[in-house]
Amino acid sequence: MHDIPESEIAGIVSPDTTRSGPRSAREINLSAVQSVVETVRSTLGPRGKDKLIEKPDGEVLITNDSETILSETAISNPVASLTISVAKAVGQEYHDGSTTAVILTGALLDAAESLIEQGVAPNVVARGFEHARQCANRSLDDVLIPGGWNVEVLTHVAATATTGNGLGMAGSDMATRVVEAAALVRDADSFDPDRIRIVTQTGHSPATSTVSQAVALAKDPVRQAMPDEVIDGRVLFIRGSLELSDTKQKTAITIEDVDSFTRFHEREATEIRDLAERVVDLGADAVLCSRSIADEAQSVLSRENVLAIRQVDEDALDTIAASLGGTVVSSVTEATTDDLGSGDFRRDPDDELFCIEGNGEPRPTIIIRGPTQGMVDELVQHVETGLEVVAAASDGGVVGGAGALEVELSHRLRRAARGIDGREQLAFEAFADALERIPQTLGENAGLDPVDALVSLRTAHATGDRWAGIGTDGDIINAVDTNVYEPVEMKRQVLKSATEAATLVLRIDDVLTVDALSESIRSD
Ligand code: ADP
Ligand code: MG
Repeated sequence: MHDIPESEIAGIVSPDTTRSGPRSAREINLSAVQSVVETVRSTLGPRGKDKLIEKPDGEVLITNDSETILSETAISNPVASLTISVAKAVGQEYHDGSTTAVILTGALLDAAESLIEQGVAPNVVARGFEHARQCANRSLDDVLIPGGWNVEVLTHVAATATTGNGLGMAGSDMATRVVEAAALVRDADSFDPDRIRIVTQTGHSPATSTVSQAVALAKDPVRQAMPDEVIDGRVLFIRGSLELSDTKQKTAITIEDVDSFTRFHEREATEIRDLAERVVDLGADAVLCSRSIADEAQSVLSRENVLAIRQVDEDALDTIAASLGGTVVSSVTEATTDDLGSGDFRRDPDDELFCIEGNGEPRPTIIIRGPTQGMVDELVQHVETGLEVVAAASDGGVVGGAGALEVELSHRLRRAARGIDGREQLAFEAFADALERIPQTLGENAGLDPVDALVSLRTAHATGDRWAGIGTDGDIINAVDTNVYEPVEMKRQVLKSATEAATLVLRIDDVLTVDALSESIRSD
């Protein structure tokens, strides 16, 4: 349920409207944003519903991720697209919070609309909203629970960010894996999620997903005869191939007789063998190439007992080089012994993986397993989200979720509004109303009467229960006691994006006003 009565919406398209251009333009924009909100609001929270999307090519997608839903839904209105880009901006940073950002944008615009109807100019509303947001940010500083490496809290942060996914136990196991991997690369209370690799395998139970300190590489040696274990070996990393370069092959294209053809091939084979000899001369016990390894080179390397692996994707190559303290070179001819890394390669025959470990930077891998590709893909999404929110939480701190934060900020904004004069006070109150749309929607999705839920929440917050929110079953809970945590930085970003988007839409209206004016001047 939202606050615009149906009659108002109908008024937008009513042909007998006598409203001025700018006003109806604003209403059209508002209804475009509301249509985006309507698309995603029922997905919010642990009781959010999934959407079934049928793509033009007939593929059917079931998801409750706003970013996905909005990317797959054809929306042509520019103002609606703007709202979607807000969702994506928040989503890109944390892989989370998109739905909240969209709902808040819509709620702010609703609130703005009633202020404008009371005669407040749109730019005054915009300014008031920005001040209210800054005030909310200061309240956030006040209520936040500082960051730090609290494994339990961080695991709950990851779990909260991925609830409502229908994955059950597999989902919560992933939260544990995320924090385990993060701990391996943490530097004081922060870590770089990009240092954790994700590899996937299908055909296994999700419960067998693990974190490996070693880099896992799902590759085979190029020849079976090669060693599949190298202990304390020296390793060369080539971003490229062990082949003759294309240009060399092209210069030798004119061949007149069989003899010169044979000679040409022999020369080529010798050159390739030389490349492989060079790998051996550098003292490498293993060589990893991002591209191919010519047959003649494979023979030499195999004979010399060098482990060679080809077609290693570039990300994996960089990761392994970093963890073994080596440098990736673009060809063997430019490599020096300093470029070699060192470490161990162990083959796990059951897992069809190499486990690679060295003395360079720690680069753990989360190995995600699931019965099907679809499930694995979903788990990957959760792990990626988990890594971002855990990084944000350990660094910047957390707040209670379940709508508790929004009610608390709303409560504080209303209190602050009392000390403010005039129209700004109205904007503060409007911002406070808009924030309540989040717990209201959570309640609605849990089957509650939204008004009743809000009344109980307001009472709880007025009596100092700062983290009172809506539980999974629609009951009033204390978010912190029930471990529903979210990173404070994500909440800041949601407030910022939603305020910016709402302000932009209000401004678009100003532009239309000027156009409409010049139109009427021209027609005079
Ligand atoms: P978003 O795209 O905004 O992240 P979600 O569908 O993930 O949307 O819902 C997020 C909301 O659900 C947040 O307000 C969060 O605090 C709340 N939430 C998540 N897990 C729980 C839970 N276990 N109990 C209550 N609320 C929860
Ligand atoms: Mg979420």
